[in-house]
Amino acid sequence: MNYYSLNRKAPNTSFKNAVIKGLAPDKGLYFPEQITPLPQSFFENIDELSYSEIAFEAIKQFVSPDIPEPILKTIIEETLSFDFPVVKLSEQISTLELFHGPTMAFKDVGARFMARCLGYFNRDNTNEVTVLVATSGDTGGAVANGFLGVKGVNVVILYPSGKVSDIQEKQLTTLGKNITALEVNGTFDDCQAMVKRAFLDDALTSKMQLTSANSINVARWLPQLFYFMFAYKQLHNTYKNIVFSVPSGNFGNVCAGMMAQQLDLPIQHFIASNNANNVVTNYLKTKDYTPKPSVQTISNAMDVGDPSNFIRIQEIYNNDFKTLQDHLSSYSFTDAETKAALKDIYNTYNYVADPHGAVGYLGSKAHLKHNPDAHCVFLETAHPTKFLDVVEDTIGEKQSLPPQIQAVMHKTKVATAISTYNDLKAFLLK
Ligand SMILES: *Cc1c(COP(=O)(O)O)cnc(C)c1O
Repeated sequence: MNYYSLNRKAPNTSFKNAVIKGLAPDKGLYFPEQITPLPQSFFENIDELSYSEIAFEAIKQFVSPDIPEPILKTIIEETLSFDFPVVKLSEQISTLELFHGPTMAFKDVGARFMARCLGYFNRDNTNEVTVLVATSGDTGGAVANGFLGVKGVNVVILYPSGKVSDIQEKQLTTLGKNITALEVNGTFDDCQAMVKRAFLDDALTSKMQLTSANSINVARWLPQLFYFMFAYKQLHNTYKNIVFSVPSGNFGNVCAGMMAQQLDLPIQHFIASNNANNVVTNYLKTKDYTPKPSVQTISNAMDVGDPSNFIRIQEIYNNDFKTLQDHLSSYSFTDAETKAALKDIYNTYNYVADPHGAVGYLGSKAHLKHNPDAHCVFLETAHPTKFLDVVEDTIGEKQSLPPQIQAVMHKTKVATAISTYNDLKAFLLK
Protein backbone atom coordinates (compact mmCIF):
# COMPACT_ATOMS: atom_id res chain seq x y z
CA MET A 1 0.00 0.00 0.00
CA ASN A 2 1.16 3.48 -0.78
CA TYR A 3 0.19 6.53 1.20
CA TYR A 4 -0.43 10.10 0.10
CA SER A 5 -0.13 13.28 2.10
CA LEU A 6 -3.35 15.06 2.96
CA ASN A 7 -1.60 18.33 2.11
CA ARG A 8 -1.05 16.87 -1.38
CA LYS A 9 2.34 18.55 -1.83
CA ALA A 10 4.58 15.53 -1.18
CA PRO A 11 5.25 12.36 -3.15
CA ASN A 12 3.27 9.23 -2.32
CA THR A 13 5.25 6.76 -0.30
CA SER A 14 5.35 3.20 1.08
CA PHE A 15 4.01 2.03 4.44
CA LYS A 16 7.58 1.65 5.65
CA ASN A 17 8.51 5.19 4.77
CA ALA A 18 5.26 6.59 6.18
CA VAL A 19 6.00 4.87 9.50
CA ILE A 20 9.60 6.02 9.65
CA LYS A 21 8.75 9.60 8.65
CA GLY A 22 5.57 9.96 10.73
CA LEU A 23 4.48 13.09 8.85
CA ALA A 24 4.90 13.76 5.12
CA PRO A 25 7.58 16.28 4.07
CA ASP A 26 4.79 18.82 3.40
CA LYS A 27 3.65 18.22 7.02
CA GLY A 28 0.48 16.49 5.90
CA LEU A 29 -0.84 13.33 7.53
CA TYR A 30 -0.46 10.18 5.48
CA PHE A 31 -3.57 8.41 4.19
CA PRO A 32 -3.80 5.09 2.29
CA GLU A 33 -4.23 5.39 -1.49
CA GLN A 34 -6.98 2.77 -1.51
CA ILE A 35 -9.25 0.99 0.91
CA THR A 36 -10.49 -2.38 -0.36
CA PRO A 37 -13.48 -3.71 1.61
CA LEU A 38 -13.13 -7.17 3.11
CA PRO A 39 -15.19 -9.92 1.46
CA GLN A 40 -18.68 -10.60 2.81
CA SER A 41 -17.52 -14.11 3.80
CA PHE A 42 -15.13 -12.53 6.31
CA PHE A 43 -18.03 -11.04 8.26
CA GLU A 44 -20.20 -14.13 7.85
CA ASN A 45 -17.45 -16.35 9.29
CA ILE A 46 -16.17 -13.97 11.92
CA ASP A 47 -17.32 -16.30 14.73
CA GLU A 48 -14.79 -18.85 13.53
CA LEU A 49 -11.86 -16.42 13.39
CA SER A 50 -9.51 -15.67 16.29
CA TYR A 51 -8.69 -12.05 17.13
CA SER A 52 -5.28 -12.46 15.53
CA GLU A 53 -6.82 -13.83 12.34
CA ILE A 54 -9.32 -10.95 12.21
CA ALA A 55 -6.55 -8.42 12.74
CA PHE A 56 -4.36 -10.01 10.10
CA GLU A 57 -7.07 -9.93 7.43
CA ALA A 58 -8.06 -6.41 8.35
CA ILE A 59 -4.62 -4.81 8.23
CA LYS A 60 -2.63 -6.75 5.68
CA GLN A 61 -3.59 -4.55 2.71
CA PHE A 62 -2.26 -1.51 4.57
CA VAL A 63 1.20 -2.89 5.35
CA SER A 64 1.95 -5.11 2.36
CA PRO A 65 4.43 -5.64 0.81
CA ASP A 66 6.73 -3.95 3.32
CA ILE A 67 6.06 -6.50 6.04
CA PRO A 68 5.99 -10.12 4.84
CA GLU A 69 2.91 -12.06 5.94
CA PRO A 70 4.66 -14.45 8.39
CA ILE A 71 6.31 -11.47 10.11
CA LEU A 72 3.02 -9.60 10.20
CA LYS A 73 1.39 -12.60 11.86
CA THR A 74 4.04 -12.62 14.57
CA ILE A 75 3.75 -8.86 15.10
CA ILE A 76 -0.02 -9.22 15.53
CA GLU A 77 0.25 -12.21 17.88
CA GLU A 78 2.68 -10.31 20.10
CA THR A 79 0.62 -7.10 19.95
CA LEU A 80 -2.66 -8.76 20.96
CA SER A 81 -1.45 -10.58 24.06
CA PHE A 82 -4.49 -9.60 26.17
CA ASP A 83 -8.28 -9.60 25.94
CA PHE A 84 -10.88 -7.12 24.59
CA PRO A 85 -14.12 -8.09 26.33
CA VAL A 86 -17.50 -6.49 25.72
CA VAL A 87 -19.46 -6.10 28.96
CA LYS A 88 -23.20 -5.77 28.51
CA LEU A 89 -24.76 -3.21 30.86
CA SER A 90 -28.31 -3.25 29.45
CA GLU A 91 -30.20 -4.16 26.28
CA GLN A 92 -29.21 -0.76 24.91
CA ILE A 93 -25.70 -0.20 26.25
CA SER A 94 -22.49 -2.22 26.37
CA THR A 95 -18.92 -1.24 27.01
CA LEU A 96 -15.88 -2.50 25.17
CA GLU A 97 -12.99 -2.78 27.62
CA LEU A 98 -9.79 -1.71 25.94
CA PHE A 99 -7.70 -1.50 29.09
CA HIS A 100 -6.37 -4.98 29.61
CA GLY A 101 -2.93 -4.25 28.16
CA PRO A 102 0.32 -3.51 30.02
CA THR A 103 -0.39 0.22 30.60
CA MET A 104 -4.16 -0.21 30.88
CA ALA A 105 -5.23 2.24 28.17
CA PHE A 106 -6.34 1.45 24.63
CA LYS A 107 -3.17 2.97 23.22
CA ASP A 108 -1.21 -0.18 24.08
CA VAL A 109 -2.31 -1.86 20.85
CA GLY A 110 -1.16 0.93 18.53
CA ALA A 111 2.07 1.45 20.46
CA ARG A 112 2.95 -2.25 20.52
CA PHE A 113 2.14 -2.69 16.84
CA MET A 114 4.11 0.38 15.79
CA ALA A 115 7.12 -0.53 17.94
CA ARG A 116 7.31 -3.95 16.31
CA CYS A 117 6.96 -2.53 12.80
CA LEU A 118 9.72 -0.03 13.47
CA GLY A 119 11.87 -2.74 15.06
CA TYR A 120 11.43 -4.83 11.91
CA PHE A 121 12.25 -1.95 9.56
CA ASN A 122 15.31 -1.13 11.63
CA ARG A 123 16.49 -4.72 12.02
CA ASP A 124 19.81 -4.30 10.26
CA ASN A 125 20.07 -0.57 10.26
CA THR A 126 22.81 1.21 12.14
CA ASN A 127 21.04 4.57 12.01
CA GLU A 128 19.02 5.21 15.10
CA VAL A 129 15.48 6.54 14.96
CA THR A 130 14.25 8.96 17.59
CA VAL A 131 10.58 8.69 18.39
CA LEU A 132 9.34 12.04 19.65
CA VAL A 133 5.94 11.97 21.25
CA ALA A 134 3.67 14.40 23.07
CA THR A 135 1.26 12.92 25.59
CA SER A 136 -1.88 14.17 27.28
CA GLY A 137 -1.64 11.21 29.63
CA ASP A 138 -1.84 7.71 28.24
CA THR A 139 0.21 7.79 25.04
CA GLY A 140 3.42 8.32 27.01
CA GLY A 141 3.06 5.17 29.09
CA ALA A 142 1.88 3.03 26.19
CA VAL A 143 4.71 4.20 23.94
CA ALA A 144 7.32 3.86 26.70
CA ASN A 145 6.16 0.32 27.43
CA GLY A 146 5.74 -0.67 23.79
CA PHE A 147 9.15 0.61 22.69
CA LEU A 148 11.18 -0.38 25.74
CA GLY A 149 14.31 -2.17 24.56
CA VAL A 150 13.51 -1.93 20.82
CA LYS A 151 16.87 -1.92 19.06
CA GLY A 152 17.91 1.27 17.29
CA VAL A 153 15.00 3.32 18.61
CA ASN A 154 15.22 6.08 21.21
CA VAL A 155 12.02 7.46 22.65
CA VAL A 156 11.58 11.00 23.97
CA ILE A 157 8.24 11.72 25.64
CA LEU A 158 6.97 15.25 26.35
CA TYR A 159 4.26 15.56 28.98
CA PRO A 160 2.57 18.58 30.58
CA SER A 161 3.77 19.04 34.15
CA GLY A 162 1.02 18.55 36.75
CA LYS A 163 -1.61 17.66 34.13
CA VAL A 164 -1.31 13.88 34.00
CA SER A 165 -2.41 11.53 36.78
CA ASP A 166 0.18 10.17 39.24
CA ILE A 167 -0.02 6.71 37.75
CA GLN A 168 0.24 8.00 34.21
CA GLU A 169 3.35 9.93 35.23
CA LYS A 170 4.92 6.86 36.83
CA GLN A 171 4.24 4.80 33.72
CA LEU A 172 6.17 7.16 31.48
CA THR A 173 8.99 8.30 33.77
CA THR A 174 10.21 5.10 35.42
CA LEU A 175 11.34 2.75 32.66
CA GLY A 176 14.80 4.11 31.79
CA LYS A 177 16.86 2.40 29.05
CA ASN A 178 15.92 3.86 25.64
CA ILE A 179 13.04 5.92 27.11
CA THR A 180 13.43 9.54 28.27
CA ALA A 181 10.72 11.74 29.76
CA LEU A 182 10.66 15.53 29.43
CA GLU A 183 8.38 17.33 31.87
CA VAL A 184 7.10 20.42 30.09
CA ASN A 185 6.10 23.54 31.93
CA GLY A 186 2.93 24.02 29.85
CA THR A 187 -0.14 22.27 28.44
CA PHE A 188 -0.54 19.27 26.15
CA ASP A 189 -1.01 21.68 23.24
CA ASP A 190 2.39 23.21 24.08
CA CYS A 191 3.94 19.72 24.05
CA GLN A 192 2.30 18.90 20.72
CA ALA A 193 3.39 22.24 19.23
CA MET A 194 7.01 21.61 20.28
CA VAL A 195 6.97 18.17 18.68
CA LYS A 196 5.54 19.55 15.45
CA ARG A 197 8.15 22.30 15.41
CA ALA A 198 10.94 19.77 15.88
CA PHE A 199 9.80 17.90 12.77
CA LEU A 200 10.08 21.17 10.81
CA ASP A 201 13.50 22.10 12.16
CA ASP A 202 16.25 21.37 9.62
CA ALA A 203 18.91 21.80 12.28
CA LEU A 204 17.45 18.70 13.94
CA THR A 205 16.19 16.66 10.99
CA SER A 206 19.55 16.95 9.20
CA LYS A 207 21.20 15.32 12.21
CA MET A 208 18.68 12.70 13.26
CA GLN A 209 15.78 10.62 11.97
CA LEU A 210 12.79 11.84 13.93
CA THR A 211 9.42 10.12 13.87
CA SER A 212 6.18 10.39 15.76
CA ALA A 213 4.34 7.77 17.80
CA ASN A 214 1.19 9.87 18.14
CA SER A 215 -1.82 8.70 16.21
CA ILE A 216 -0.66 10.79 13.24
CA ASN A 217 1.66 7.83 12.60
CA VAL A 218 -0.17 5.29 10.44
CA ALA A 219 1.29 2.34 12.37
CA ARG A 220 -0.13 3.73 15.62
CA TRP A 221 -3.46 4.72 14.14
CA LEU A 222 -4.55 1.86 11.86
CA PRO A 223 -4.36 -1.11 14.28
CA GLN A 224 -7.01 0.64 16.36
CA LEU A 225 -9.54 -0.50 13.77
CA PHE A 226 -9.22 -4.00 15.28
CA TYR A 227 -11.26 -3.03 18.34
CA PHE A 228 -14.40 -2.37 16.35
CA MET A 229 -14.13 -5.78 14.68
CA PHE A 230 -13.56 -7.51 18.03
CA ALA A 231 -16.68 -5.84 19.43
CA TYR A 232 -18.67 -6.80 16.34
CA LYS A 233 -17.59 -10.42 16.74
CA GLN A 234 -18.94 -10.42 20.28
CA LEU A 235 -22.20 -8.61 19.56
CA HIS A 236 -23.42 -9.29 16.05
CA ASN A 237 -25.45 -12.38 16.90
CA THR A 238 -27.46 -10.41 19.45
CA TYR A 239 -27.65 -6.85 18.11
CA LYS A 240 -27.93 -5.44 14.63
CA ASN A 241 -27.82 -1.65 14.93
CA ILE A 242 -24.39 -1.30 16.50
CA VAL A 243 -23.34 2.25 17.31
CA PHE A 244 -19.97 3.12 18.81
CA SER A 245 -19.51 5.96 21.25
CA VAL A 246 -15.83 6.84 21.25
CA PRO A 247 -14.35 9.12 23.92
CA SER A 248 -12.32 11.38 21.66
CA GLY A 249 -9.33 13.68 21.97
CA ASN A 250 -7.12 13.62 18.90
CA PHE A 251 -9.83 11.62 17.07
CA GLY A 252 -7.48 8.80 16.07
CA ASN A 253 -9.59 6.07 17.63
CA VAL A 254 -12.93 7.10 16.15
CA CYS A 255 -11.23 7.64 12.80
CA ALA A 256 -9.86 4.07 12.98
CA GLY A 257 -13.41 2.88 13.59
CA MET A 258 -14.45 4.66 10.43
CA MET A 259 -11.70 2.80 8.58
CA ALA A 260 -13.22 -0.47 9.86
CA GLN A 261 -16.53 0.72 8.46
CA GLN A 262 -14.83 1.46 5.13
CA LEU A 263 -13.73 -2.19 5.17
CA ASP A 264 -17.50 -2.94 5.29
CA LEU A 265 -17.82 -3.70 8.98
CA PRO A 266 -21.54 -3.11 9.67
CA ILE A 267 -21.55 -0.11 11.99
CA GLN A 268 -24.67 2.01 12.09
CA HIS A 269 -23.22 5.24 13.44
CA PHE A 270 -20.38 6.84 15.39
CA ILE A 271 -20.56 9.18 18.32
CA ALA A 272 -17.54 11.28 19.22
CA SER A 273 -17.97 11.88 22.93
CA ASN A 274 -16.04 14.89 24.12
CA ASN A 275 -15.28 16.61 27.40
CA ALA A 276 -15.25 20.43 27.53
CA ASN A 277 -12.81 20.42 24.59
CA ASN A 278 -15.59 20.65 22.07
CA VAL A 279 -14.17 21.86 18.75
CA VAL A 280 -15.78 19.00 16.81
CA THR A 281 -19.08 19.11 18.68
CA ASN A 282 -19.29 22.78 17.71
CA TYR A 283 -18.26 22.07 14.15
CA LEU A 284 -21.03 19.52 13.64
CA LYS A 285 -23.49 22.03 15.02
CA THR A 286 -22.30 25.18 13.24
CA LYS A 287 -20.11 24.01 10.32
CA ASP A 288 -17.46 26.29 11.78
CA TYR A 289 -14.19 24.54 12.69
CA THR A 290 -12.31 26.68 15.17
CA PRO A 291 -9.42 25.11 17.11
CA LYS A 292 -9.14 26.45 20.64
CA PRO A 293 -6.56 26.18 23.41
CA SER A 294 -7.24 23.00 25.38
CA VAL A 295 -8.85 23.21 28.80
CA GLN A 296 -7.97 20.85 31.63
CA THR A 297 -10.56 18.24 32.63
CA ILE A 298 -10.80 15.01 34.64
CA SER A 299 -10.72 13.05 31.37
CA ASN A 300 -7.28 14.45 30.62
CA ALA A 301 -6.36 12.21 27.68
CA MET A 302 -9.04 14.07 25.71
CA ASP A 303 -7.83 17.58 26.55
CA VAL A 304 -7.07 18.44 22.96
CA GLY A 305 -7.93 21.77 21.39
CA ASP A 306 -7.02 20.98 17.78
CA PRO A 307 -7.56 17.28 17.08
CA SER A 308 -4.91 16.13 14.64
CA ASN A 309 -6.86 13.27 13.05
CA PHE A 310 -9.98 15.22 12.18
CA ILE A 311 -8.53 15.92 8.76
CA ARG A 312 -8.45 12.16 8.10
CA ILE A 313 -12.13 11.92 8.98
CA GLN A 314 -12.86 14.70 6.51
CA GLU A 315 -10.95 12.74 3.87
CA ILE A 316 -12.89 9.53 4.53
CA TYR A 317 -16.13 11.40 3.83
CA ASN A 318 -14.72 13.37 0.88
CA ASN A 319 -14.92 16.62 2.81
CA ASP A 320 -18.68 16.49 2.52
CA PHE A 321 -20.40 17.93 5.57
CA LYS A 322 -23.69 16.12 5.01
CA THR A 323 -22.02 12.69 4.65
CA LEU A 324 -20.01 13.39 7.77
CA GLN A 325 -23.17 14.25 9.70
CA ASP A 326 -24.80 11.02 8.51
CA HIS A 327 -21.98 9.01 10.03
CA LEU A 328 -20.90 11.01 13.05
CA SER A 329 -22.62 12.78 15.92
CA SER A 330 -20.76 14.55 18.69
CA TYR A 331 -21.64 15.63 22.21
CA SER A 332 -19.65 17.50 24.81
CA PHE A 333 -19.93 17.03 28.58
CA THR A 334 -18.66 18.90 31.63
CA ASP A 335 -16.66 17.40 34.49
CA ALA A 336 -19.73 17.63 36.73
CA GLU A 337 -21.74 15.61 34.21
CA THR A 338 -18.89 13.12 33.92
CA LYS A 339 -18.76 12.58 37.68
CA ALA A 340 -22.52 12.17 37.82
CA ALA A 341 -22.19 9.57 35.06
CA LEU A 342 -19.50 7.66 37.01
CA LYS A 343 -21.94 7.46 39.91
CA ASP A 344 -24.87 6.57 37.68
CA ILE A 345 -22.96 3.71 36.01
CA TYR A 346 -21.85 2.45 39.40
CA ASN A 347 -25.25 2.68 41.06
CA THR A 348 -27.28 1.40 38.12
CA TYR A 349 -25.03 -1.32 36.73
CA ASN A 350 -22.55 -1.92 39.55
CA TYR A 351 -19.82 -1.14 37.03
CA VAL A 352 -16.81 1.09 37.72
CA ALA A 353 -15.94 3.20 34.70
CA ASP A 354 -13.10 5.66 34.24
CA PRO A 355 -13.77 9.34 33.43
CA HIS A 356 -13.17 8.83 29.68
CA GLY A 357 -15.51 5.86 29.53
CA ALA A 358 -18.06 7.88 31.50
CA VAL A 359 -17.98 10.56 28.78
CA GLY A 360 -18.55 7.78 26.24
CA TYR A 361 -21.48 6.51 28.31
CA LEU A 362 -23.04 9.99 28.29
CA GLY A 363 -22.66 10.12 24.51
CA SER A 364 -24.48 6.77 24.27
CA LYS A 365 -27.34 8.02 26.43
CA ALA A 366 -27.68 11.19 24.37
CA HIS A 367 -27.83 9.16 21.15
CA LEU A 368 -30.33 6.65 22.52
CA LYS A 369 -32.80 9.44 23.32
CA HIS A 370 -33.48 9.84 19.61
CA ASN A 371 -32.42 6.37 18.44
CA PRO A 372 -33.93 3.89 20.90
CA ASP A 373 -33.39 0.94 18.52
CA ALA A 374 -29.61 1.28 18.57
CA HIS A 375 -27.25 -0.80 20.65
CA CYS A 376 -24.58 1.63 21.82
CA VAL A 377 -21.12 0.43 22.70
CA PHE A 378 -19.01 2.96 24.55
CA LEU A 379 -15.31 2.32 24.59
CA GLU A 380 -13.75 1.99 28.03
CA THR A 381 -10.45 3.48 26.93
CA ALA A 382 -8.59 3.26 30.25
CA HIS A 383 -8.79 1.34 33.51
CA PRO A 384 -10.51 3.32 36.29
CA THR A 385 -7.55 3.00 38.66
CA LYS A 386 -5.41 5.09 36.30
CA PHE A 387 -7.57 7.95 37.62
CA LEU A 388 -7.70 6.68 41.17
CA ASP A 389 -8.42 9.91 43.07
CA VAL A 390 -11.30 11.04 40.88
CA VAL A 391 -12.88 7.60 40.69
CA GLU A 392 -12.62 6.79 44.41
CA ASP A 393 -13.81 10.24 45.48
CA THR A 394 -16.75 10.13 43.09
CA ILE A 395 -18.13 6.69 43.75
CA GLY A 396 -17.01 6.63 47.38
CA GLU A 397 -15.41 3.22 47.26
CA LYS A 398 -11.79 2.08 47.48
CA GLN A 399 -10.51 0.32 44.39
CA SER A 400 -8.07 -2.55 44.39
CA LEU A 401 -5.13 -2.03 42.11
CA PRO A 402 -4.42 -4.39 39.21
CA PRO A 403 -0.88 -5.81 38.97
CA GLN A 404 0.06 -3.52 36.04
CA ILE A 405 -0.60 -0.48 38.24
CA GLN A 406 0.99 -1.90 41.39
CA ALA A 407 4.15 -2.58 39.43
CA VAL A 408 4.80 1.14 38.82
CA MET A 409 3.29 2.77 41.93
CA HIS A 410 6.45 2.81 43.98
CA LYS A 411 9.05 3.39 41.31
CA THR A 412 11.05 6.60 41.26
CA LYS A 413 10.21 9.23 38.66
CA VAL A 414 13.06 10.35 36.39
CA ALA A 415 12.26 13.35 34.19
CA THR A 416 14.05 16.40 32.78
CA ALA A 417 12.16 19.67 33.17
CA ILE A 418 11.92 21.90 30.08
CA SER A 419 10.03 25.11 29.31
CA THR A 420 10.74 26.19 25.76
CA TYR A 421 11.30 24.78 22.32
CA ASN A 422 14.98 25.69 22.61
CA ASP A 423 15.25 23.51 25.70
CA LEU A 424 13.90 20.60 23.68
CA LYS A 425 16.24 21.27 20.81
CA ALA A 426 19.27 21.52 23.07
CA PHE A 427 18.26 18.27 24.72
CA LEU A 428 17.94 16.43 21.41
CA LEU A 429 21.21 17.77 20.05
CA LYS A 430 23.24 16.89 23.10
C1 LIG B 1 -5.93 8.88 24.09
C2 LIG B 1 -7.15 8.61 24.85
C3 LIG B 1 -8.41 9.00 24.38
C4 LIG B 1 -8.57 9.78 23.10
O1 LIG B 1 -8.26 9.03 21.97
P1 LIG B 1 -8.03 9.75 20.55
O2 LIG B 1 -7.67 8.67 19.62
O3 LIG B 1 -6.91 10.73 20.76
O4 LIG B 1 -9.30 10.44 20.21
C5 LIG B 1 -9.52 8.67 25.13
N1 LIG B 1 -9.42 8.02 26.29
C6 LIG B 1 -8.23 7.64 26.79
C7 LIG B 1 -8.18 6.96 28.11
C8 LIG B 1 -7.06 7.91 26.09
O5 LIG B 1 -5.89 7.54 26.60
